[in-house]
Amino acid sequence: MNAAVDIISLSPRVRSFIGQPHQALIDGRWQAAADGKTFDVFNPATEEVIARVADCKKADVDLAVAAARKAFDGGPWPSMSPSQRGKILWKIGDLILENLEELAQLESLNNGKPIGVARAADVPLAADLFHYMAGWATKIEGTTLSLSVPYTPGAEYHAYTRREPIGVVAQIIPWNFPLLMAAWKLGPVLTAGCTVVLKPAEETPLSALRLAQLCLDAGLPPGVLNVVTGFGESCGAPLAAHPHVDKVAFTGSTEVGKLIVKAASNDLKKVSLELGGKSPNIVLEDADLDLAIPGASNAIFFNHGQCCCAGSRLFVQEKRYERVLEGVSDAAKKIRLGPGLDPATQMGPLVSKVQFERVTGFLKSGREEGARTVVGGNRYGNSGYFVQPTVLDGTRENMRVYQEEIFGPVVTVTPFKDADADLIRRANDTVYGLAAGIWTNDMRRAHRIANKLRAGTVWINCYNIFDASLPFGGYKQSGWGREMGHEVLNNYLETKAICAAI
Ligand code: NDP
Repeated sequence: MNAAVDIISLSPRVRSFIGQPHQALIDGRWQAAADGKTFDVFNPATEEVIARVADCKKADVDLAVAAARKAFDGGPWPSMSPSQRGKILWKIGDLILENLEELAQLESLNNGKPIGVARAADVPLAADLFHYMAGWATKIEGTTLSLSVPYTPGAEYHAYTRREPIGVVAQIIPWNFPLLMAAWKLGPVLTAGCTVVLKPAEETPLSALRLAQLCLDAGLPPGVLNVVTGFGESCGAPLAAHPHVDKVAFTGSTEVGKLIVKAASNDLKKVSLELGGKSPNIVLEDADLDLAIPGASNAIFFNHGQCCCAGSRLFVQEKRYERVLEGVSDAAKKIRLGPGLDPATQMGPLVSKVQFERVTGFLKSGREEGARTVVGGNRYGNSGYFVQPTVLDGTRENMRVYQEEIFGPVVTVTPFKDADADLIRRANDTVYGLAAGIWTNDMRRAHRIANKLRAGTVWINCYNIFDASLPFGGYKQSGWGREMGHEVLNNYLETKAICAAI
């Protein structure tokens, strides 16, 4: 740990919030788990308990789904005018901004991310998402259709489509961007007029609970948003399988994504998934290395590598290989690790002991399989879940560190000779297809490569650029459907065709 750690003092509101009982939100009321049990939530920088949260299980899930069902089937939300719904969504965005500092502190404390990042990215992006979606509430439209039915010659029809909310939606989210993931899910589902049961990750439930209160403060009617805190198997699984849920939206590991599909398949619920990645980031020999080197570092080290779209496989054209390897390694060495609440921190701890063990396990496997650790490769400090930013050279395509999602600050750097079909094959050679990066001054070539990459997002001369209007999601085993943009609304709308003989 850096010697001079200067942690900001938590605001009185954050202190008061973390000190209060953290209950589930069901039908507009905060309530303890039915069996009264709680679980501990930790500060990953110190491994200390910061809060106790309701340990919801099937009985609580049943109540939450019943509340969402009632609010959908008979409640005011789906029948409210789109303009009124849009105003409430806009207000949620405003309240997020009004509470920016509190939410940023909470996020940094619970997730470990640098406070500066939470202030500049997580919280404003969450607000933006609600503001962006608020505009769509009044723009959900069907179409009118001219029919040519061959077996009713001369008949006339008035035919049109309506987009209708899909119903009760279960949303299960992870811990890497706890507030932002809640916003990505809640913004569109509420815009579409659905009702929701949200399950935040067990590691990071606090900002979602605070956001839920802001949603109530903004005027969201009771039962429209319900939040159950708990564990994957005892809370997430019964929610994903619940017979009164119409649709499941999930973000997390590909492994659990497959379990969600199985759980939802019993009664053929609709499913959308935003899953893992092992994204290629390609530096061509004509790239501006003053941009590409910091860009490639940011692609992997942002959020401690805990990004589904992390640029974790860096491919560099041979002529520039040594320089880029050295540049990214130097950048890794200079990253200042520390608690997220120290404003000087550039990289905080991993989110949990489990993730710490998982990532250090990958580092060990890389060493055993013969990869060369250029920089990093170990735990950082003696307490907290800190891992050194790590650059691996000499990896081969069959190594676990090259194929599997590490979800930590670990990048493999590999040379390539020509920007040809073999490079594309290597870039696409994983089960994932979430994102990719290309660094070059040759725009024609950049676009040709972008077209061939099997990835939901391709960044050219930039990385990790997110906007509420840009759809995000995966090819292959990186998921089904898209988050953000107006395309996300398709996840939460049914299309009804209405045909009247006139
Ligand atoms: P999970 O996929 O287990 O967790 C995501 C969410 O799913 C959490 O809310 C979790 O609950 C819940 N969940 C877990 N099991 C079930 C289940 N059987 N039914 C329903 N819900 C369930 O991810 P992990 O936290 O275990 O992280 C493991 C790996 O997943 C990471 O190393 C990374 O590779 C990947 N990951 C990908 C993310 C992405 O953005 N695509 C985000 C986070 C992780 P609980 O919190 O109790 O586990």
